[in-house]
Amino acid sequence: MTDTIRDTVILGSGCAGLTAAIYAARSNLKPLVIEGHEPGGQLAITTLVENFPGFPEGIQGPELIDNMRKQASRFGAEFQLGHLVTADLSKRPFQLNLGKEKIQARTLIIASGASARWLGLPSEQALIGHGVSSCATCDGFFFNGQEIAVVGGGDSAMEEALFLTRFASKVTLLHRREQFRASPIMLDRTIAHPKIEIRTNVVIEEVLGVDEKEVKGVRLRDTVTGEESTLPIAGLFLGIGHEPNAKMFAGQIDLDEDGYILTKDYVFTRVPGVYACGDVQDRRYRQAITAAGSGCMAALEVEKYLEEHGR
Ligand code: NAP
Repeated sequence: MTDTIRDTVILGSGCAGLTAAIYAARSNLKPLVIEGHEPGGQLAITTLVENFPGFPEGIQGPELIDNMRKQASRFGAEFQLGHLVTADLSKRPFQLNLGKEKIQARTLIIASGASARWLGLPSEQALIGHGVSSCATCDGFFFNGQEIAVVGGGDSAMEEALFLTRFASKVTLLHRREQFRASPIMLDRTIAHPKIEIRTNVVIEEVLGVDEKEVKGVRLRDTVTGEESTLPIAGLFLGIGHEPNAKMFAGQIDLDEDGYILTKDYVFTRVPGVYACGDVQDRRYRQAITAAGSGCMAALEVEKYLEEHGR
């Protein structure tokens, strides 16, 4: 256990965490940012970001996140690789266990994000950013006039498929079962769309194009007949859900039925001094700019809390 008590610790180094770090650092709070499993968060694995205000020509996701990190460092934010194993939020200061190291903090900003679910195929992992994407809003534009596929049978997959029809010449929706989790209205819209073809009872065995470093197609298996086939596509979008990274707080702060942190007035958790921002508490917008906005709010609340309760 280090004797130092941190004014604030920020869990997560995506857009929400880094924005919180910039604001907290500029308030002289010397925030410590724990970078987590996926440093930089989802922006770090995106390509061109064209909807973050201020970049008329767009900016590469990794560059945007790197700029934010530098900006936070310039004002005194400190960074540490690692991830939270357990936390005790019943004690003051809060006790954060990072495995080899224990950290004490007067306030905590949880910006640990949500991780896209992947199929877990080696070929899929090799082609992330080269035609495999989990973000239609981020990457759809690159598939203008091309044929692509979306995997999943829930609302996310329907939403992605419908959104992608703006760019793609054809979208094939691939679902592993006959029944859908999607709401009837979203499913009806998807079925009715002339550019979307739905294929049920299919699983992806392999994403083709690893040697060429770009998606060329997918090898499919019909789960009923066992028959294999190839679908030529230029892009594969995963719409099989996200998992918020908040399990380690179960029982200490409120989570919804899917594990997202429940916040009140944007960023307040039920523990005074603990705030949550970004995708770990936002299942609705999930945008870099909304994550940044809530990171700013969390840092401003930390500042207020420390003014009221002392440092
Ligand atoms: P979801 O409802 O859990 O659906 C995930 C889908 O992905 C399921 O169809 C599931 O198949 C499939 N899937 C999961 N793992 C898979 C795998 N390894 N291989 C192949 N398929 C796999 O998740 P979601 O669509 O992200 O929705 C989450 C919540 O957000 C829902 O409550 C949803 O209503 C809400 N949401 C709403 C909107 C909207 O209203 N506009 C948009 C997005 C999300 P199985 O069905 O076989 O399990």
